[in-house]
Amino acid sequence: MTTITRSEVVAVVIAQGGETHAPSLAAAGADRVLIIDNSSLGPVCGRAVGNVLAGAVERETPYAILFASTADGRDLASRLAARLSLGLTGDAIDLEIDDEGQLVQLKPALGGNVVAPILSKTLPNLVTLRPGLLTPASPSRAPMFASSGRNFRKTQKGRDLARARVVVGLGMGVGEDEVAGLVEVARSLGASVATTRDVVHAGWLPQQLQVGISGRSIAPTVYIAVGIRGAFNHTVGLQRAGIIVAINQNRRATIFRSADFGVIGTWQEFLPPLINELRPVLASLTSG
Ligand SMILES: Cc1cc2nc3c(=O)[nH]c(=O)nc-3n(C[C@H](O)[C@H](O)[C@H](O)COP(=O)(O)OP(=O)(O)OC[C@H]3O[C@@H](n4cnc5c(N)ncnc54)[C@H](O)[C@@H]3O)c2cc1C
Repeated sequence: MTTITRSEVVAVVIAQGGETHAPSLAAAGADRVLIIDNSSLGPVCGRAVGNVLAGAVERETPYAILFASTADGRDLASRLAARLSLGLTGDAIDLEIDDEGQLVQLKPALGGNVVAPILSKTLPNLVTLRPGLLTPASPSRAPMFASSGRNFRKTQKGRDLARARVVVGLGMGVGEDEVAGLVEVARSLGASVATTRDVVHAGWLPQQLQVGISGRSIAPTVYIAVGIRGAFNHTVGLQRAGIIVAINQNRRATIFRSADFGVIGTWQEFLPPLINELRPVLASLTSG
């Protein structure tokens, strides 16, 4: 955003000892870092922190304020909106600057079937953004996750889904009994595993692996979608993926609209030969 609007990027850290984050924020593109030490103010989402932040906004008069769509971010953004009488766009998935320099906030609407452009009537623009959807200016460090699903007891050691270069996505078409076996296949490739909300709801894999509108956003070099229909709610989390390979037995499956390579057929028949063929390429990606 700095280059497009030629404006300054200010990162706000609300934490005790927040100075420790300043170098990494500067490395990621922050021109300035404001630190709010909340040790005597109370929780991040509390009234006192909201008041301090509102004071900073009134002093600095920024063009836009972006919050992560986390519990704290949503809470703080709403407090700010109420206090300063500003509009607020919640859960945007992307941002653009139009020809007139306005911030276009892109937000899924109508059950995720369209992406609506939102323009604020008030300034500063106030937006909450789903974490992970924007490409960081320099490599970001994402936390490791611990898994909790029934068939996925171990952690993906060192293979953070957010940073994985090869990801195998397992959908409902995989079938409950086969999930564990395919997780092992993914591991043998050095790949991470992702999944859909329906699989998570079925309890086959943990929520931490869900990709999509209410899950994570990932940016692998290669994504192999196995038995995944390709609902927008899932593919929105793949916007930054490189090559998407899909195997689905239904030729009309919407995943083929997102895929660079599609195999129409069952994964039972086509996944093993596909993996044999791709193994050397995938190994070169995951070993780096
Ligand atoms: C508010 C909201 C938020 C949501 N958020 C998310 C989200 O964050 N992430 C997400 O993923 N979903 C999300 N969803 C759900 C989403 O809309 C879809 O329902 C879900 O992604 C479908 O999961 P699926 O593709 O695994 O299952 P299905 O829709 O059941 O598709 C299974 C696919 O497997 C194929 N198949 C079956 N057997 C085989 C076989 N043997 N070989 C090959 N292919 C086979 C079928 O042809 C089918 O296309 C959300 C929904 C709502 C309403």
